[in-house]
Amino acid sequence: MKAAKWYAKKDIRVENVPEPSAPKPGEVKVKVSWCGICGSDLHEYLAGPIFIPTQPHPLTGAQAPLILGHEFSGTVVEVGAGVTTVRVGDLVAPDACQHCGVCVTCREGRYNVCEKLAFTGLMADGAFAEYVNVPAELCYVLPADFDLEAASLIEPLATGFKAVRLAGSLIGKTVVIFGTGTIGLGTLMCAKAAGASTVIAVEMSAARKKLAKECGADIILDPKECDVIAEIKKLTKGSGADVSFECIGNKITGPLAIEAIRNNGKAVIVGIFEEASSFNFFSLSATDKVVIGTLAYTVDDFQGVANLLASGQLKAEPLITGRIKLDDIIEKGFEELVNNKDANIKIIVSPN
Ligand SMILES: [Zn+2]
Ligand SMILES: [Zn+2]
Repeated sequence: MKAAKWYAKKDIRVENVPEPSAPKPGEVKVKVSWCGICGSDLHEYLAGPIFIPTQPHPLTGAQAPLILGHEFSGTVVEVGAGVTTVRVGDLVAPDACQHCGVCVTCREGRYNVCEKLAFTGLMADGAFAEYVNVPAELCYVLPADFDLEAASLIEPLATGFKAVRLAGSLIGKTVVIFGTGTIGLGTLMCAKAAGASTVIAVEMSAARKKLAKECGADIILDPKECDVIAEIKKLTKGSGADVSFECIGNKITGPLAIEAIRNNGKAVIVGIFEEASSFNFFSLSATDKVVIGTLAYTVDDFQGVANLLASGQLKAEPLITGRIKLDDIIEKGFEELVNNKDANIKIIVSPN
C-alpha cells in the first residue's frame, strides 16, 4: 500500500510499504478515508524528530522511520480477537492516545496523559496510508451517514472541546482566545456552544481573523493594532475576562493569557510551547487566578464533538482549506503549509 513515511526532517517519503498485518487482539484495521495534516506533523517535517522516537517506544516499540498521520476517519475492515465494541463496516474516528492502562493517570481515566502515551502517527504507524491498525477501544463509532471529511476533524476539534470542558461553566461569560488556527477555532466554536456571551479572539493574520468571525468571534483584537490587555480591560469594566484559552504556544502570549483574566478567573493553556516564558508567580498568589493545562482529549470528547457537528454548533467546513491526494502530500501539503501559512487552516489528505 501507499504511505507517507517520516525518515528525517525534510525527508518524508511517499512509498510502497507492506499493508499492516491482521490486527492483533484488541485492535482493528481501518481503511483510511481522510487524514488531516496537524501542526505537530509540520513540526516533525521542519524540525523533527520532536515526538517521533529514535529508540523503540516503551509502549508500541515503534521508532523512525514511521508513517505519520493521526487526525483521521475511515472504515473498519477487520477486527482482532476479543473486539466487541467495533464491527467490520463501522465508520470510525479514532482517538490517537494509545496508552498503557495501568499507570496512575490511566487508572484515573486521564489516559491522554498516560506515562507511556504513544500518539498514533507519531509514536506508532499512522494514517497517511491506505490502512492502519489501531486499538479498538480508541475508535469512536460514527453514525452510518456521517460525513467522513468532517469526521477527520473530530480529533483536532476534540482538543478544543476538552479545553472548554476543563474550564467549567462558560454560560454568560466573557472568554478570550489567543490564536485562531485549527485548535483556537475549535475552542472558539465550543466556547460559543457552551454559552459564552462574548468571545474575544486575539489574532494577527487577516485570513484567520475572517475565519474567527465566521466561527462566531464577537470581537477580534490584533496585537499589531492595539494594546490587547488594555482593550480586554476596557471591554470588561476594568476587571479582565472570565476565562482565557492560549491556543498558540508562544512565550509572550502564555503570560498574556493569565494577565487577560480577572481575579479568580481561569486561564487554560492549550498551545504547544517551544520556548520558556518569564513569569512572576505573584500574579497568581495575589489574585486567586487558576491556570489549567490540557493535552489532547479522551474518547468521550469525540462523542461531544460528533454531537455538536451533527447539530451544526460546530462546523468543520470553514476549517478545511485543502483536499489533496497522498501522492501530493509534500508539495500540496507540507510545503503549502510552510509557504502559505496564513491562508491555510486544515489540509486533509486522501490515500485513495
Ligand atoms: Zn494533531
Ligand atoms: Zn498509562
